[in-house]
Amino acid sequence: MSSDLEAATTSESRVTLDSADQALVDGVLKRQPRALAKAITLIESTRSDHRRRAAGVLDALLPHTGNSIRLGISGSPGAGKSTFIEALGLALIRRGRRVAVLAVDPSSSISGGSILGDKTRMEHLSVSPDAFIRPSPSRGSLGGVADKTREAMLICEAAGFDVILIETVGVGQSETTVAGMVDAFVLVQLPNAGDDLQAIKKGIVEIADVIVVNKADIDPDAAELARRQLAGALSLLRHPSPNWKPVVVALSAAKSQGIDKFWDEIERLRRTLTKSGDFTEKRRRQSVDWMWSLIDQGLRQRFRENANVRRELEPTSRSVAEGRTTAAAAAYRLLDFVEADGD
Ligand code: GDP
Repeated sequence: MSSDLEAATTSESRVTLDSADQALVDGVLKRQPRALAKAITLIESTRSDHRRRAAGVLDALLPHTGNSIRLGISGSPGAGKSTFIEALGLALIRRGRRVAVLAVDPSSSISGGSILGDKTRMEHLSVSPDAFIRPSPSRGSLGGVADKTREAMLICEAAGFDVILIETVGVGQSETTVAGMVDAFVLVQLPNAGDDLQAIKKGIVEIADVIVVNKADIDPDAAELARRQLAGALSLLRHPSPNWKPVVVALSAAKSQGIDKFWDEIERLRRTLTKSGDFTEKRRRQSVDWMWSLIDQGLRQRFRENANVRRELEPTSRSVAEGRTTAAAAAYRLLDFVEADGD
């Protein structure tokens, strides 16, 4: 594509913002906390007029995104994720970084609660002017929640946060979703084999770039043993990126010991993967995957909102369940309604 054509296509896809939304964009770029919070509330809204405005705001902010390092942090409840995020966040702020913490919480779509709902879990970090903590949006499917988190991440980047930490808690699927939006995926483990087995069973270990064995202060020898065992297990697994060998770091989040060593590994990962080209390639792939996930969701939504589908879905499902119609015939008949609509 010629650069002229490229410019025309890009500008065509831009939405003109009204003055309120332009003020919101300016506020985010000026790093105003209120504007940041308002912009995220806008993208979390499910109202269709809000969705349109949110798309315009995101579009305007997009050129200012991409300059952070994005980390996913996962682990079973009690492993010490919040304590670790607080210790890491404070250490990074001491190094002059600005840190945003977001959450993808699959349980919140069921219970309405949130892993970060209680900000007092990170009481020092939450009062720092260089930190921003946002709980998971509480409605919608995992996919929906995750997409809002991804958009929130971009808004935080536009507001000058240079480290984004995305916390999630474990049902396997949420880990994979988060791994699909970050540069590095970190698994926080307890120094006991039961925890390892759980993570291995759920397929989380093989997507981890760095594994943290936390609570090393309680029994340093046990932590070191766990570290070595995990490193051994990792060497048998195939990591998605051939240019990065996952590492295991034993540390104590509660005593803030080993945090620097952990961050050194993240910096090394960034350097290594930038040099090999994987860093950029991964982000490009993630953006296209995200587009497809939005298309899938959009199509599903249109399908479910179609008047004929709404009328026929229940009786057709029953008919399939009772063996009176084949699944294929039923699916094509329902899909035809949407196609007819589009014509
Ligand atoms: P999360 O559910 O994974 O977010 O875990 P939390 O961060 O809430 O920690 C669970 C419990 O473990 C809390 O009581 C913490 O104080 C404790 N904890 C977290 N990290 C450490 C650590 O490094 N050493 C010790 N001894 N306790 C820790």
